[in-house]
Amino acid sequence: MTRRVLIAEFMHETNTFSVQLTGEEAFQAHGVYLGNEIPQAFRSSRTSMGAAFEAADRFGWNLVHPLVTGANPSGRVTDSAFELFAGHILNACDGVDGVLLHLHGAMATESSDDGEGELLARLRKRLGADIPIVAVLDLHATLTQMMADNANALISYRTYPHIDQYERTWQAAELLERAMAGEIRPRVAVARRPILYALDGGRTTSPPFKELLRRGDAIEAAGDALVVSVQAGFSSADVHDIGPSVAVTADDRGRAQAIAEELMDYAWEQRRFSSISFTPLAEAMARAKAGEELGGKPLLMSDYSDNPGSGAYGDATNLLRAVLAAKLRNVGFHAICDPQAALAAQAAGVGKTVRLALGGKVDPSTGGGPLELDAHVVALTDGRFICYGPMAGGVWRNYGLSALLRVDDVEIIVITHNGQATDLAQFTSLGVDPTRKSTLIVKSMQHFRAAFEPVAREVLEVDTGALSTRNFKERPYRNVRRPIFPLDDI
Ligand SMILES: [Zn+2]
Repeated sequence: MTRRVLIAEFMHETNTFSVQLTGEEAFQAHGVYLGNEIPQAFRSSRTSMGAAFEAADRFGWNLVHPLVTGANPSGRVTDSAFELFAGHILNACDGVDGVLLHLHGAMATESSDDGEGELLARLRKRLGADIPIVAVLDLHATLTQMMADNANALISYRTYPHIDQYERTWQAAELLERAMAGEIRPRVAVARRPILYALDGGRTTSPPFKELLRRGDAIEAAGDALVVSVQAGFSSADVHDIGPSVAVTADDRGRAQAIAEELMDYAWEQRRFSSISFTPLAEAMARAKAGEELGGKPLLMSDYSDNPGSGAYGDATNLLRAVLAAKLRNVGFHAICDPQAALAAQAAGVGKTVRLALGGKVDPSTGGGPLELDAHVVALTDGRFICYGPMAGGVWRNYGLSALLRVDDVEIIVITHNGQATDLAQFTSLGVDPTRKSTLIVKSMQHFRAAFEPVAREVLEVDTGALSTRNFKERPYRNVRRPIFPLDDI
């Protein structure tokens, strides 16, 4: 019997503190693939959908693939965008034998703090209790009871930088096949503690997360659970269910709950662990300056607080201002997200000088206001290129109209669609060789490491006070459950 399986991807990590709502056009900027556009774009890629197509070939599934889309992290998803994309999935699900989804797990909409819970609940209602629904989630998912109640298995990434979407989706496909065959009837149990932020932000190279993954492996290997998933949660969201969680997928939900609770006890004990240490900006500039004569690999500096990967605006200027004031030489800077500046550079043309108010426009009160400067326009592109990887190698990205500007000896990349630096092609596509810079600057918390750490001699992290600053106590949380660590003294 040929089984009919729905696969789809609908991803957003919502920073509810962002003033930028996420509408249909934000998803279009990132990529919306419908129906027959999907195999062509994702077959043979090391992505979640790439794995789903391979699994379908192996298991002989007849696939329904209505939608693949996601948007860069930003503010709440508009209700109209949610209804549009959820509708594509829901309208394709009648008559399927199973569902395999790739979701983020931290989507909030204008009217719901739990976009994925809402989608899964609607799917469950439409499909009934007996059709298995399996979802692959980001390690930063805010995994809710509603998600657990309406899915048969939830499988989170186990790497940060996230480079195992392909492997996790294969795992999900194998479970789905077994569930459709009636070999297993899994359910999901989820546990949490009063924690807003812990597990070192999800760094899988750090002791707490590593230990949880090790224990999870042992539990899976012993046959006590089908899947043990650990989520760091997403702290830039003012939602009730915020924080780390453990989700255990097993046939026996009571046993799964006990395992999840025990693992969360360990997460609670380890809540204060942190490997993140920020270098003061003046010291970071001095070290970059001192390293200019060294030659060899560049010093890599990352602005944690303006990370577009957690919904920050990507247009903060405090770091660029410091770099220019320190007169650093041979610098590659990614990036300032500023559609107006990109257009002004295009209007001036390659080889010309343009007077700009660069960046700092979305909310000048965080991370620094616009920088007034004269910039030489070195290159212009449409912002589209194919990634080298290891994250999403072989797939297209689109940052919209992009410019390479030179100010003194600093090469500044200006983009139209926001996004963090995770791939060397974000430099090379504009003609910058990142390996030959003295100092390389990116905006990212951790994802930059997969591609950039190997080409750097040393990494410095800075916090310039932009939207994703780690200063939790200064954020206006109102809806999180209290008391909660680290806002309260528990
Ligand atoms: Zn993540």
